[in-house]
Amino acid sequence: MILVLVELENGTSAEVSLETLAFARSLSEAGGGIAIRAVLVGDVPDRDALAAELGRHGVSEVRHATGDAFDAYGGASWAAAVQAARADTSSVVVTAAGTPRGNEVLAHLAARLDVPMAANVVAFSGLSPFTVTRQVIGGAALEEMTLATRPALFTVAGHSWVAAPVDGPPAAWHEFSPEVAEADLVARVHSTGVKEADESGSLKSASVVVGAGRGAGGPGGFAAVDELAELLGGVVGVSRVVTSLGWRPHHEQVGQTGSRISPDLYIPCGISGAIQHWAGCASSKVILAINTDAEAPMMTRATYAVVGDMHEVVPAINEEIRSRRS
Ligand code: FAD
Repeated sequence: MILVLVELENGTSAEVSLETLAFARSLSEAGGGIAIRAVLVGDVPDRDALAAELGRHGVSEVRHATGDAFDAYGGASWAAAVQAARADTSSVVVTAAGTPRGNEVLAHLAARLDVPMAANVVAFSGLSPFTVTRQVIGGAALEEMTLATRPALFTVAGHSWVAAPVDGPPAAWHEFSPEVAEADLVARVHSTGVKEADESGSLKSASVVVGAGRGAGGPGGFAAVDELAELLGGVVGVSRVVTSLGWRPHHEQVGQTGSRISPDLYIPCGISGAIQHWAGCASSKVILAINTDAEAPMMTRATYAVVGDMHEVVPAINEEIRSRRS
């Protein structure tokens, strides 16, 4: 059996969970039709609708964990539920979407079962031995991993599979109330804040991004960069050093722990091009780097590189644009 932890969003399956079910279906087919079970935890507003939806995504049976322990999300308590469902279904594969919850719950499960876990898998290339390809370094590189132990535990990276419904009867529904130890209830999410508007939206979709890193020298070192972004109809994106030092807000950060950008033109100024920053800007179409160090990784990877002080080069570019436009 393949057991898939399904997360809900507004009462229906989260899109990432449906993508994970698409991955599970192809795994099932490769294995000659292995049955797919889903495990759900907590409140389910419309059971019949969900059973029908999961049936269309290849699930034959749902294990729904209910009880006071699941009033609030907790990585350990959810892992206890998945562990019970997996024992009950004798599943040889347990998977979830590569979301913060999916990764947390399966990490807890891996620790409880003392088996390895592969996070953010994008493909599988063999069942025996069970071999998967997964994203590492924030998606900047891929790694092949063999999971020799059973159950094989892994999460599926978002957008790596397409959630395509098929014809299928509603999944059978089984409620169960797994035992949850006190220790598994210590850390739970009792309330969540209202989601703020995603201010990084314009950065992700901008066709021009002017970047600034430690080379800006301080919070007062961004005036010319702000002006260049405005002149080009773009936005400013910064390195993590800049946000960590509080020079600019986090929603402007580009990279592994910031926004992934793919503008037509990226102009990183005073940014070295560490792998974690590169992970967020590698798909820019043209990169024009400005840096005092000709050997900085960003300079050697850029389409065009200007060796110079950003505090001289950027104002000179701005002046040139202004004079050509007047
Ligand atoms: P530095 O590496 O210090 O580089 C400054 C550059 O500016 C140098 O190349 C220097 O030659 C140049 N310079 C200095 N003065 C001038 C000047 N006057 N004019 C022109 N050039 C000048 N980083 C990110 O950016 N985004 C992330 O999402 C991110 N996530 C991370 C996640 C993890 C888990 C870890 C461990 C790190 C992460 N980092 C991230 C940090 C990353 O490793 C680097 O430390 C960071 O990107 C460096 O920022 P920087 O290029 O501004 O600074």
